[in-house]
Parts: sequence; structure tokens; C-alpha cells
Amino acid sequence: MGNHSLLVISGASGVGKSTVLHRIFAALPQLQFSVSATTRPPRPGERDGVDYAFLTREEFHKRIAKNEFVEYDEHDGNLYGTPWKELDKANAAPLLLDIEPMGALSVKERRPDAVLIFVTAPMEEIARRLSERGDTPPEQIAMRLRRAEWEIAQAPKYDYIVTNDQVDTCAEEIISIIAREAEISIGGN
Ligand code: 5GP
Repeated sequence: MGNHSLLVISGASGVGKSTVLHRIFAALPQLQFSVSATTRPPRPGERDGVDYAFLTREEFHKRIAKNEFVEYDEHDGNLYGTPWKELDKANAAPLLLDIEPMGALSVKERRPDAVLIFVTAPMEEIARRLSERGDTPPEQIAMRLRRAEWEIAQAPKYDYIVTNDQVDTCAEEIISIIAREAEISIGGN
């Protein structure tokens, strides 16, 4: 415990992870975010180089060939990868990676000191959030639910499992885990 500079958070689609992430970064000003590369198009409000490095498939493949990724994975038809240079940022201050379980587990293999945090929710709740969100076509919901089941089955391999049945307590719990593991103080708002 303490002095861990690499933290990884994963959570099934529909688990409400993005709200939790906002709370985490607001409460922990010293915490840095690892900017992954992806071939998925930006969503409204997402900024290149801040939320993701948005790449063409061709560019992504070039970077794979140059060994620029710690790990990469295909998710819903898009490629996502963690660049080695993002991990270097952890030398300066604690770094949080928001990646799915396949990537999280390969980071843990390469960096056993990484602290893995899994955000979960009851399956009924995940199903409800996915259909209420309105941005997921019905045929994709069944696929996402199967993926969520697989992701939740990976949770026992994580160092911490936090249930998001109430966003405030879930965020607070993760904030205190990170503050303790990375030895940083809680500030901001
Ligand atoms: P989204 O498209 O919703 O931003 O992300 C889809 C999934 O890809 C999420 O589970 C997210 O955690 C995961 N993801 C984002 N970046 C990476 C990465 O660099 N590597 C891997 N393996 N997964 C990632």
C-alpha cells in the first residue's frame, strides 16, 4: 500500500463510469489521466489529445508496428491502445488509466505494481442504463450485455471491486483508494 504511481480503472459499459471519473479528477488535482489512442470517432465534446488521441486505422497500425503500445485491443469494431509514452508520465505524478479488462490485465503483467480498480453494478441496472441512454441501437444492447457479463467475470482479478449503486459513495470510495495507494491528498471540489 502507498506510493503506487500506476492506477487502472475498468468498468462494464453502462456502469456509469464516466461520471465517477469526473468526480475522481475533480477531487485529486495531482492525478494525471493516461490518454489512449483510438480509431473510434470523437463524441461531441471530446478533444483530441485530451480525451483520446484520435487516429485513423492506418496510423494506428503504423504505431503498432513501431511498438508504440503497451497493449491494444479491439472493442465494438474500434482499436484502443495505451502508448508507452503515456506510462512515462507516471514518473512525474500518479497516473490513472481508464481501460477495459483485457488491457488492464496486460498492464498488470508488465507492471505488477499497478493497482487495478473495477467498477461494477448489478446486471439489471446495467441493462436499464444501456437502454435509457438512447445512444445504443437495440441490436447492440444484447452484445454490450454479453460483453458486460464477461467483463464482470474478470473482476476477481482486480485489487479492488467497487459497486456503483450510488454514484456519490462509489466515487468517494475510489477517491480514497487512489489517495491512499498513490499517497496523494484529496483537494479540489
Ligand atoms: P469508449 O469508446 O466508451 O471511450 O471506450 C470503450 C472501452 O474502451 C472502455 O471500456 C474503455 O475503458 C476502453 N479503453 C479506452 N482506452 C483503452 C486502451 O488504451 N486500451 C484498452 N485495452 N481499452 C481502452
